[in-house]
Amino acid sequence: MSLKESAIIDQVSQSCRMLGLLDITHAALGHVSHRIEGRDAMYIKGKGPGEVGLRYTTHEDVLVVDFDANKLEGPDYLQPPSESFLHIWMYKTRPEVQSVIHMHPKYAVLLTICQKPIIPIYNAFGSGVQLAIDGIPTYPRSCTIASDELGKEFAEAMGEKQVCLMKGHGMTAVGRTVVDSTLNTLALVELTEMMYQAYLLGDPTPILPEEIEAIKAARADTRPRTRGSSGGDAGKLALWRYYSSLAEERAVKSEMQRPRR
Ligand SMILES: [Zn+2]
Repeated sequence: MSLKESAIIDQVSQSCRMLGLLDITHAALGHVSHRIEGRDAMYIKGKGPGEVGLRYTTHEDVLVVDFDANKLEGPDYLQPPSESFLHIWMYKTRPEVQSVIHMHPKYAVLLTICQKPIIPIYNAFGSGVQLAIDGIPTYPRSCTIASDELGKEFAEAMGEKQVCLMKGHGMTAVGRTVVDSTLNTLALVELTEMMYQAYLLGDPTPILPEEIEAIKAARADTRPRTRGSSGGDAGKLALWRYYSSLAEERAVKSEMQRPRR
């Protein structure tokens, strides 16, 4: 295995730990994957009889799984997730996608159950607003994406978006890197938690139309920023480091309960 491949597996397991320790998904459920360059295969967190929860994921919990959802490499006590097909169809239909994440964040699921629209309700508060501006599709089925037919149908419902909600089930995020897909997941969680609470308080209203246009323009501007780091690739890496450090602090506390195989 090359150093680059090893670094990608480390990032996949780090993203799992981070999202698990931040309680983004309920129980032990959810998975992170990354496309394997030049092969119809991916690295993905394993499940099955010996699985550990997301927050305990290490290098050895990440399997090599082909695009027919067969395990090619990995320990005997782990199997490909039944929802491998969700990841596979993202990679099959979207060449730009390098990483996929599927989770079950509670407030996002509650909004789909009550069919509450998601709108741009904040601006400088956080990056979730960009997802709201782009529009977030909702896949209408609540079942696990455990076949080629469902994977294909889900990919069509998600289209070219960075995130997609799944009614009564969860969400999926994609990205050009594990950092991208992880931050897209965290941005959607931030947005849906804010939307949920805003609906509890009253009738959420969108930010001003000219502010929405300004956000779009800022995103299209790829020049390096000279003040602050809240945008662009530098800002993304800063956010990744922040969440990574936060997760590590919690990891120390949870180490005592680490399960044994
Ligand atoms: Zn699921």
